[in-house]
Amino acid sequence: SVLALVASAALALGLVACAPAADGGSEGDGGLIGIAMPTRSSERWIQDGDALKAQFEEAGFEVDLQYAEDDIPTQVSQIENMVTKGAVALVVAAIDGTTLTTVLEEAASQDVVVIAYDRLLRDTEAVSYYATFDNFKVGQQQAWSVLNGLGLTELDGTPIADAPAGPFNIELFAGSLDDNNAFFFFDGAWSVLEPLIEDGTLVVKSGQTDIEQVATLRWDGETAQSRMEDILASQYSDGSTVDAVLSPYDGISRGIISALTDAGYTVGADFPIISGQDAELDSVKAIIAGEQYATIFKDTRLLAAKAAEITIAALSGEEPEINDTETYNNGVKVVPSYLLEPFIVVADNIQEQLVDSGYWTDEEING
Ligand code: BGC
Repeated sequence: SVLALVASAALALGLVACAPAADGGSEGDGGLIGIAMPTRSSERWIQDGDALKAQFEEAGFEVDLQYAEDDIPTQVSQIENMVTKGAVALVVAAIDGTTLTTVLEEAASQDVVVIAYDRLLRDTEAVSYYATFDNFKVGQQQAWSVLNGLGLTELDGTPIADAPAGPFNIELFAGSLDDNNAFFFFDGAWSVLEPLIEDGTLVVKSGQTDIEQVATLRWDGETAQSRMEDILASQYSDGSTVDAVLSPYDGISRGIISALTDAGYTVGADFPIISGQDAELDSVKAIIAGEQYATIFKDTRLLAAKAAEITIAALSGEEPEINDTETYNNGVKVVPSYLLEPFIVVADNIQEQLVDSGYWTDEEING
């Protein structure tokens, strides 16, 4: 259960906090942990950063938490600075998973423990562990949520017996190609959608189905909005309508929603089924308003607790608990990983998934 998990993490943290620091620091001082987050422009990274900081501080570490506002050189110099200041461990959610090789090699040469946080660190030996969610499943869930909205399947992908025959017009969006997760999300979704595209149930009028064609640099909502506008103008000015849009992230979904609203689509009439990810507050409200159909909830509190637990175990020379040793090849090695469970959120289970779990309050959502 969640409670047991939190309790055992707290116990592990508490034990380590009392132990003398390995780097010769004073008792109760575990040393400096550098936390490098990509951007504040999305709520989730703020929650991740805050939760990680709290976990480490509670365990007796000092924390340097930095956000790079999606600028790669900024992230590189923030991490360099952490290493210079003598960080014993780095917890990194990269902007571009391939650009940190040099600074991470330098860190590793000083025995700094490097943990990839949510996004894989690519092309380097210098990463010890990876804490993330089951990212392929996130993609499957995004596709299942779209099919559910169209009346074709249950939320878990089980076909519905008397489902409508279609065909339904769908357009596809993916995330940023410098983020390894974008491929896992898209591949997961594609594994679900491809058979239905093959048999004609789903039609991609734009013909854009390769990840390179549908990617969105830096997960940027405005970039997605203009691509959706272009597609509407070039493919749907003949009176046909978009029935569904696969979107990998709530910020992208909001850009897509703006394009559709500007083009005259109306909720309750012809508004398409749109997926998302992260359960961002504005998007939870959009789900209640009927503009977005679903999002994927990944509990950042659990991820932060897991990442802290792994980091602290590694620092004390223990084998951290991991549950995946085959999925995440970073180009140089398979990184031992811990994958957490993602959940689909639709209007009907907002209360259960997001409010009862304490992720958002009723007031935040409805206030
Ligand atoms: C994360 C998603 C997030 C996206 C954009 C991905 O790496 O896994 O949760 O929506 O980045 O920030």
